[in-house]
Amino acid sequence: MDNAKTEELVIKLEESLGLSSLESGPKLIGAIIADKVPNMGAIKNILMKAWESFGEPKIMYMKDNIFTILVQDEVMANKIIEEGPWSVMGFCFSVQRWPSNLAIEEAPTHMVVYWIQVHGIPLNLMLTGNAREIGEKLGTVLEVDDPWNKGPRGFLRIHTLIDTTNPLAAGFWLLRPEGLDTWAELKYEKLSDFCFDCGKLGHTKNGCKFNPDKNEDGESTAFGDWMKARTVRERHNQVSLNVPRSVRRQAGQISMMNLGTRVVRVAQKSGENEIVAGNNNGSWHAD
Ligand SMILES: [Zn+2]
Repeated sequence: MDNAKTEELVIKLEESLGLSSLESGPKLIGAIIADKVPNMGAIKNILMKAWESFGEPKIMYMKDNIFTILVQDEVMANKIIEEGPWSVMGFCFSVQRWPSNLAIEEAPTHMVVYWIQVHGIPLNLMLTGNAREIGEKLGTVLEVDDPWNKGPRGFLRIHTLIDTTNPLAAGFWLLRPEGLDTWAELKYEKLSDFCFDCGKLGHTKNGCKFNPDKNEDGESTAFGDWMKARTVRERHNQVSLNVPRSVRRQAGQISMMNLGTRVVRVAQKSGENEIVAGNNNGSWHAD
């Protein structure tokens, strides 16, 4: 054949329908989001300890930043996934199901699910529909909390799958009918350490190789510890966060200048109250 050299090998494989030859139990894929992956044995030990009340998982390091996890039943699989993302040595460790029709290399291990809280939303915009609209600007919305379910909470809460190769979004300007935009802050539950310079997971500012926005003192004010939210259950015993409030935009802060704000129309439930999300520092990462 003339083109024999350029033909590529194609093989069709049989599927084991009952999966009887595979070890039983749900299979999960874990990934540590770290630019330089720490000691594998240590990661495994920390996870075994963290999950010991759920059961006894089999954790195996595969390659790069990826682990396979075999658990005994669905209850344990759900607990590990729902209580994540986990933090190991300060790094995010995310766990997702390993679909049987996916090779380990095909799993989107850079995608991580967070509960994101939106602070600085006025009462009349505190709607599940608005939570969903905001979540869709951040990533893929899995579910939203009803802000009125257990009485007024004061913030929106969105379960969102986000792409961790992008900087975390710190907030957005909310268009107010009075013409004065206000800042809405985003806080992430179970957020591990991340870079306060570029806003990405995987390293801290000492190991940052990106070009962040910095002020005259060489400090980045776009990202900080204030983006770490206490989970809703932990909020009952909340103490105030010790963060440098003077250097950051805070929830409810009024915009002095709308110039440069990239405007994205996100929602209006009533037809009267339009809200607009965007930013002016380039960290917004979804269209
Ligand atoms: Zn960085």
